[in-house]
Amino acid sequence: MTRIIVVTSGKGGVGKTTCTANLGMALAKGDRRVVVIDADFGLRNLDLLLGLENRIVYTAMDVLAKQCRLDQALVKDKRQPNLALLPAAQNRSKEAITPEQMKVLVEALEPHYDYILIDSPAGIEMGFRNAIAAAKEAIIVTTPEISAVRDADRVIGLLEANDIKRLHLVVNRLKPAMVQADMMMSVQDVQDILAIPLLGVIPDDERVIVSTNRGEPLVLEQKLSLAGLAFANIAQRLRGDKVPFLDLSAPHDDLFSRLRRMFRG
Ligand code: ADP
Ligand code: MG
Repeated sequence: MTRIIVVTSGKGGVGKTTCTANLGMALAKGDRRVVVIDADFGLRNLDLLLGLENRIVYTAMDVLAKQCRLDQALVKDKRQPNLALLPAAQNRSKEAITPEQMKVLVEALEPHYDYILIDSPAGIEMGFRNAIAAAKEAIIVTTPEISAVRDADRVIGLLEANDIKRLHLVVNRLKPAMVQADMMMSVQDVQDILAIPLLGVIPDDERVIVSTNRGEPLVLEQKLSLAGLAFANIAQRLRGDKVPFLDLSAPHDDLFSRLRRMFRG
């Protein structure tokens, strides 16, 4: 059974594309066949995050217009043969495909993949409905800020109204020190408001921005950083494995405190 999952949010800029790229790569590394669909019309950048922007020849629009075959539009990842990108969005063009067309595309992909991840625009934007049309599950990404959480809550309502009932929460850009100082919502606060199962928490980390700029998802790192590990764990939980949540309050860059904790047991 192919899992068809839309990655979405209420507010823009909270980390949907980052999440899609890292989860897609992590699942592919774990021997799953994965296709990531860029359905964020107007803000296309999944190709950039994967470093595949120069390899795009056709998009889903060309497939639908019968200008090329579906397999011609699929861009194989350079590093990971199990991962492919379907560019659905065209730069700066707001003319999105219809929900029906999205379903046609996903149905054609289904026999060939274990996971179809759809990177969508935020819930308030045009194109959101097309992006969610074919999905059976949703990952809702939010940052721990009131405005983002409130908008996420609205999107959860929209998803449920569209019969997408299997929902997963990802809290991104958590700053543990700020939470401890009572200056930021805690993960528990977010969960209390949204009341959907937590898939994982990603710390705020400059390495995420660096990896974005390089087109190399963090989960490709030789030695995973805490944020990279958080993404890898999220992929595993998505697969159904029980993985304990990371203690993000631990000072992860400090070798000595890590050793001290190890010796304390
Ligand atoms: P969206 O797709 O929701 O618009 P993006 O994935 O494009 O969001 O992320 C928006 C910006 O936030 C990017 O510059 C990205 O590098 C940055 N970002 C995302 N997650 C993190 C994080 N955990 N720590 C630091 N920066 C992040
Ligand atoms: Mg995006």
